[in-house]
Amino acid sequence: LHQRAIEQERLSSLGLMAASVAHEINNPMSYVTSNVDSLLQDLREEQNLSSPLKEYVDDVLPATLDGIKRVNSIVSDLRRFSRGDFEGYSPYNFDAEVRTALRIARIQLGHVRVEEALDEVGTVVGRPRQLVQVLVNLLVNAGQATPSGGVVRLVTRRQGNRVHVEVRDTGSGMSEETKRHLFEPFFTTKPPGLGTGLGLSVVHGIIKAHGGRIEVESELGKGTCFIIDLPNVPPLPPENPSGGDLRAAR
Ligand code: ADP
Ligand code: MG
Repeated sequence: LHQRAIEQERLSSLGLMAASVAHEINNPMSYVTSNVDSLLQDLREEQNLSSPLKEYVDDVLPATLDGIKRVNSIVSDLRRFSRGDFEGYSPYNFDAEVRTALRIARIQLGHVRVEEALDEVGTVVGRPRQLVQVLVNLLVNAGQATPSGGVVRLVTRRQGNRVHVEVRDTGSGMSEETKRHLFEPFFTTKPPGLGTGLGLSVVHGIIKAHGGRIEVESELGKGTCFIIDLPNVPPLPPENPSGGDLRAAR
């Protein structure tokens, strides 16, 4: 348990650090973005550009904007994902948060059929906003991997003192290579603007912090299933709070 508390503390201070770094990067990035963007617009309106400048307009500046786009989405994901770090453990209604997650992810699921097999789970202890984040990340990934007309299925049920969650899709599936790296921060197979590679590392961190496990089954061309197993009360007692929790507890 002591080891777990240290790990928890480490994860949480990393989260706080990431959040404040992201916050600091956000302001300069917004003027970098708009300056490069207007430079590109202005140059595009120029007739008779010299050939080095033409190369900037055609290649260098668009590539620079792609890079900037990637940094901006990483920064906004870091800020979004670290919000729940400030929250303490508390009892909450699991089923209500599942509905919240479905509502948030719905926009990304417009092209697929969403099947819900939601048994009543009831009250569990944890960080509800982080649970929502886990489900949204998994549902958005499922939606992004699945072509129009496919199916994304969400299953929740209580098994004794544990909670079982499945997010299943009939999408692209994953290669062995992707499976090996998928929980690593910044691992992504998506183009800039679509993916940062932070989603599943955040999911993994949250599930671990809650004393749960996550597994993946996936077959190329057939689809993917993420399976989560969580205790309804995490083994780490709430009176052993990490950095952000102290604040909430006062
Ligand atoms: P991102 O979605 O920003 O790329 P994630 O951490 O959420 O980052 O996912 C990492 C990678 O795992 C994705 O780029 C994708 O290759 C793979 N992946 C995740 N979920 C699925 C899924 N449901 N089906 C197929 N591949 C997936
Ligand atoms: Mg993702």
